[in-house]
Amino acid sequence: MATILVVEDNPRNLKLAAFLLRKEGHEVLEAADARAGIELARRYRPPLVLMDIQLAGTDGLSAARTLKSDPFLSNSKVYALTALAMKGDEENIRAAGCDGYIAKPIRYREFLQTVAAALSSGDGAPTSQQSE
Ligand code: MN
Repeated sequence: MATILVVEDNPRNLKLAAFLLRKEGHEVLEAADARAGIELARRYRPPLVLMDIQLAGTDGLSAARTLKSDPFLSNSKVYALTALAMKGDEENIRAAGCDGYIAKPIRYREFLQTVAAALSSGDGAPTSQQSE
């Protein structure tokens, strides 16, 4: 079980993600905008951050870039939550430093599988280093 930060400005998506993660036994931190998300990330240093890339104000990719470039948060993975399915999105998401992404609408099993894989795959280095 892990602490997971969800940054999502759509209350229904936030509620659903938090519900599913808590049901799995995770502790969930919730933020509705990038500023609050970055603040919570720096305070709790969660091993995983799920970041909606379309946020009002500071967008999620900028926030992801901020988190991924913070040496204090080098153990935090950032996965983008994206409703966009256009070509080039994955490149933009990777370019921002994200470790992966989850497509919305959230599909329960796929969502939880991706989260589990993210939490168990160490720092993302090619060697499959286990964090636990
Ligand atoms: Mn959004």
